[in-house]
Amino acid sequence: MSEPRFVSTRGAAPAVSLSEAIAQGLAPDGGLYIPSHLPAVDVGSCVAGSRLPEIARGALAGFFEGDRLRRALGEIADAALDVPAPTTAVAGCPDPLFALELFHGPTAAFKDFGARFLAASLERLETGQPQTLTILVATSGDTGGAVAAAFHKRPWVRVVILYPAGLVSPRQEQQLTCWGDNVSSLRIAGTFDDCQRLVKEAFSDARLNRGHRFSSANSINIGRLLPQMVYYVASSLEIERRTHAKASYIIPAGNLGNAFAAVWARALGFPIERIVLAHNVNRAVPDFLKNGVWQPRPSIATLASAMDVGNPSNMERMRALYPSLSEIREQLSADSVDDATIRSRIGEDFMRYGREWCPHTATAAEVYSRLSVAERRDRPWVVVATAHPAKFNEIVEPIIGKPVTIPESLDRLLRLPQHAVDLPPTLEALAAALE
Ligand SMILES: *Cc1c(COP(=O)(O)O)cnc(C)c1O
Repeated sequence: MSEPRFVSTRGAAPAVSLSEAIAQGLAPDGGLYIPSHLPAVDVGSCVAGSRLPEIARGALAGFFEGDRLRRALGEIADAALDVPAPTTAVAGCPDPLFALELFHGPTAAFKDFGARFLAASLERLETGQPQTLTILVATSGDTGGAVAAAFHKRPWVRVVILYPAGLVSPRQEQQLTCWGDNVSSLRIAGTFDDCQRLVKEAFSDARLNRGHRFSSANSINIGRLLPQMVYYVASSLEIERRTHAKASYIIPAGNLGNAFAAVWARALGFPIERIVLAHNVNRAVPDFLKNGVWQPRPSIATLASAMDVGNPSNMERMRALYPSLSEIREQLSADSVDDATIRSRIGEDFMRYGREWCPHTATAAEVYSRLSVAERRDRPWVVVATAHPAKFNEIVEPIIGKPVTIPESLDRLLRLPQHAVDLPPTLEALAAALE
């Protein structure tokens, strides 16, 4: 089969190489990059029990074929995927239930995998460029920390984080402001929407673009999606080895980036059966699967704040892969969980299994509990644990009645001094701060 080119979901931008798709992020027509066809993968080249960098070499090679990054794939995977993602059995559950733990990275959430892979890829594309790249990130909490951790101290890039004053949790704020060096943190007197608007204005401002070369490390970048496939490949092979059955995943979902990676891993032929999306009360996707009408809406604030997305951008990729409603319904199901139920699920699973879920993971655990007795008994289910509960201690600790142990890497970050600059939500203020 021929090498894949990368095309826009909106079909009005030229096809590009993988490197170009990674460097650009968003296609010029506003669409998201997808491969022109899914590359063939030698499923047998990925072996259960191998480390993630080994799995990446086999599972991702087809996407990199013919690209200038092809020869560096192994090194990129070694540098970026050097974080464990174990699939652990949930002890005390009578049925085959597992958790895919994606919170062992530097900022204790799954976004570390994508951000680190993107940084390692861009490093190879950017080194030697005459002008430093400036990455602007608007964040409502988790993304900014993962991007800062991944790009910190890389000499070819500067990271500027914009976050809304007073609207992120204390530990999230610490992770947004503890870096220094090439990372600046701007605390904006406004909302997340103001931060996002400022980034967009900066990208399209002619004067600022003369002095800076801007990029975003936004979650729609294909360089963040590809590495997320790797842990589904590793996990599904591990489940197959342990249970002789295909794994079914329940995934806490917001922008659907993590879920889309699972859909791709299954489409490539890895042993995945069902994929179920767990949303909070931002229910555009569950409603679409139910009544067939795509109705994006303003986001609603919830306890699972990293999933507060009213218009999930990766739906565009999902619909490009499965154009008809009946196909999407065959591939996915989705449910929605409100805040009161998130709290009760955290408490119940702590009592029953001794597991401490973050509020995002709790949505998936709740959706699992709603499956029928037969569904739970008959196939191995995997709840995807997207963040460590210590990131959300102010929510989790009062429910379980004890402190959550902080992972060592997170603890290190929590001890560093904060540096943030307060700014009004105007482009002039941002322009001055960039000088
Ligand atoms: C970002 C995030 C999600 C949602 O992931 P998407 O790829 O946007 O669907 C879920 N849980 C946590 C902890 C996150 O940080």
